[in-house]
Amino acid sequence: MREVWRNRSKERIVSSALDVKSWLEAVPGVEEVGPARCPACGGASRPAGRGLGLWGHGLRERQQRGPLEAGGKAQTVVILERRYRCRGCGALIAVVPRGVLRGRHYSAGAIGLALALFGVVGLALADVRTRVSPWPVVGETARATWLTVRRWIRAIRERRLFTSVRATPPTWTARQIAERAAMTFDALAPPTLSGEIAARVFAGAARAS
Ligand SMILES: [Zn+2]
Repeated sequence: MREVWRNRSKERIVSSALDVKSWLEAVPGVEEVGPARCPACGGASRPAGRGLGLWGHGLRERQQRGPLEAGGKAQTVVILERRYRCRGCGALIAVVPRGVLRGRHYSAGAIGLALALFGVVGLALADVRTRVSPWPVVGETARATWLTVRRWIRAIRERRLFTSVRATPPTWTARQIAERAAMTFDALAPPTLSGEIAARVFAGAARAS
């Protein structure tokens, strides 16, 4: 399980092994995805001889944008994240499906797909948008491009997003950075997944950090 810190609400986010698709089919139970330890204080969720250290704290809605698989329809889905409260230190912990990123509206898979379409397939950003964004486009300027992808690439360049992508030389173009990120995700895809690069990159991005 991967754990990250969310500044906004000082809540810990733990990523589960389940992907968004299976999570949407059936929200896992409190026991099923509960962390073994509190990510804030390290306390065991079931300390020997004492009661539960982490208590289920209900569900909360979280929006997630982008297709659920490489060839899927771009959409917005609502995920019910599982929440826990640590009895030891009071921390709030949210468990989310694999590929849900801190502070991003789009899933890791959707971002990976956009980077592959731009950096490897060579699509224009306007065409990347129609494959990945569920939002209608308003305005002529917006129709010609998709600045969100440029923001993701800048964040990768500045090592604020997907730090498993190796640092890129300052002279590299946005397309080159997108290509390197996509190839990194491709290498992280399960070996059983063969075929189209988009599908491999989608799966690999959800495993990247
Ligand atoms: Zn704790």
